[in-house]
Amino acid sequence: MKVLCVGAGLANASLIHFLNQKKFQQEEIFFDVIDKRKHIGGNCYTEVDEETDVTIHKYGPHIFNTNSEIAWEFINAYLTMHPFTNRVKASTPKGIFSMPINLHTINQLYGKSMNVAEAVEFMDKITAPYRTNDPKNFEDTMLSHLGRDLYKEFIYGYTKKQWGVEPSELPAAVAKRLPFRLNYNDNYYNKKYQGIPEEGYTALFEKIFSDKNVHLSLDTTYDDYMASDYDSIIYTGTIDQFFNFEFGRLSYRTVYWERNISNGIFQGNAVINYTTEDKPFTRINEPFFFEPWKNDLPKSNSVYFTEFSKLTDLEDEPYYPIRRTEDLNRLNLYEKKAKLEKYSKFIFHGRLGSYRYLDMDMVIEASARLAEKIKTHSH
Ligand code: UDP
Repeated sequence: MKVLCVGAGLANASLIHFLNQKKFQQEEIFFDVIDKRKHIGGNCYTEVDEETDVTIHKYGPHIFNTNSEIAWEFINAYLTMHPFTNRVKASTPKGIFSMPINLHTINQLYGKSMNVAEAVEFMDKITAPYRTNDPKNFEDTMLSHLGRDLYKEFIYGYTKKQWGVEPSELPAAVAKRLPFRLNYNDNYYNKKYQGIPEEGYTALFEKIFSDKNVHLSLDTTYDDYMASDYDSIIYTGTIDQFFNFEFGRLSYRTVYWERNISNGIFQGNAVINYTTEDKPFTRINEPFFFEPWKNDLPKSNSVYFTEFSKLTDLEDEPYYPIRRTEDLNRLNLYEKKAKLEKYSKFIFHGRLGSYRYLDMDMVIEASARLAEKIKTHSH
């Protein structure tokens, strides 16, 4: 069996891993992996920064967090994972606050010292005007949990900067990504496993793509003529571009970073969010703090990245599917078209291929399921 993998990122790497598992080895599979970029790893790509000797995640920090045993086992098969807890801070004109919003944040913003029971009563009162059983969008959902003040200080500006649209246009599901707790737990994630690989993520891709049955071609853009040589094509680029935007463009947002060097430590934390509109950027990350197992800066300089967001133009790398109603209607048309007999060899996979806001662990789980499916169908 010959498979063409379009995209050398996590979706295809994890799919190759699962297809290569022993239980599937009745038939040998040959993979040609192509990527238009000059490096492997997609947006998980990491490299050591020459100037400071710290590992940087070129397309933004990827903190692995999951409840999935399958995903955790997969990542540990290739990488040395170190425990990492993401404790974000929020900076606003009013000061520095604990994030995600927790009892500390609420006491800080309102200048109070409430215990849990008092805070429950307080939040009940301030959210009463916004309570609804049927939140229609991101803004409704957030207001009903947080009330007006917390929403304005920590959510509205950040979300508008990050997504480039009014928060009332975003799906309610985005709100579920951000925990809200009436206790002092300031761990950004609610997951059983949370960690960062000591050697960076690129090592995982190097291992998977160096398999004897994998042939890798970087700097190679997919073209329709390539498909005829293969039994199956796993396409992890954007589905709207694949179909030449026939039903219009799906919207994505992209992020970009300004690189800065500070003499010594800069901000003192891995991530600080700038949650109000007075600053044009969304957050700053300082990679040294993603390696807490190191005690000192390897060199005396510290690199930090200021992150900006914008809507994706054709020449930009798409990062996040926005999934407004109009996008989902278009997606539906593309997905229908993809089911036509003519495209029966094609599988659209990963965050861009499926136009879904998938975290790393969800991509790995999707690959595990897809591998089962491919194997059952090919016999
Ligand atoms: N969010 C916010 N303020 C913050 C952090 C997050 O308003 O300080 C909102 C924002 O809309 C964001 C969503 O919560 O898109 C989910 O946050 P998450 O950190 O999961 O976004 P990611 O970094 O994965 O894009």
